[in-house]
Amino acid sequence: MQLKQLVPEEFCLRCDVCCRFSQAHTVWAPLFTDSEIKYLVKKNILPPLVFTGHSETKIAKDRSGSMSICIQRINLIEHNGYFICPCFNPSDHSCKIYTNRPFECQLYPFLLMRKGDKFYLAQDKKCPYLDKIEEPRLKGYINYLKEEFKKEDTLSFLRQNQKLFAEYPTTDLKLLFPIAI
Ligand code: SF4
Ligand code: SF4
Repeated sequence: MQLKQLVPEEFCLRCDVCCRFSQAHTVWAPLFTDSEIKYLVKKNILPPLVFTGHSETKIAKDRSGSMSICIQRINLIEHNGYFICPCFNPSDHSCKIYTNRPFECQLYPFLLMRKGDKFYLAQDKKCPYLDKIEEPRLKGYINYLKEEFKKEDTLSFLRQNQKLFAEYPTTDLKLLFPIAI
C-alpha cells in the first residue's frame, strides 16, 4: 500500500527527528507487517535477523516456505549514544529502503493509535514540518487520510494488522479521528 506524502523529501533529509530513538526498545520504533517483512526478506533487501522475534529456527522455517511471522519491530542499533533504525543512514539522514519502507513509516508524522478498544489516527507533535505547514494544506492532507481509511482495502489491511495500532504517550500526540475497523 502506498500513501501520498505530506512532508517534502528535502525537508525530511535536513531533519533529525525521525528514525532515531533514545532507547533500544521503544513503542516508537517502526513495526513491519508480515507481508512487508516477507517482501523485504525475499528480495534480499533486509535479512530476517533485523526483526525482533526472529530466531534461527524461525529463519529455517521461513526458508522452507512455511513462514508465519506476524508484525515485528525492527531491531534498533546503537549509534553515538542513541539508537537508530538499521535502514537509516546517519550521514545523509536517508532511508536505505525508502521505496519499500513500511506503511508505518509512510504514514508518519501520523500514527495509528489504540486507546482501550478504540482505534484512532493521531498526529505526532514532534514533527517540525507540522509547525511550518499552512493550515489548509494540513487539513487537506488529513481529509485525504480520512478518505483512505474509509476504503475497504485499507480497512482490510488494518484489520489484518491490528497490532499496528499502538498505545503511545498521549501528551506527544494529537488525536485526529477514529478509525472504524
Ligand atoms: S520528523 Fe517530520 S520532518 Fe522530520 S524526518 Fe520525520 S516526517 Fe520528516
Ligand atoms: S525504515 Fe526507513 S523511514 Fe522507517 S524508521 Fe527505518 S530508516 Fe526511517
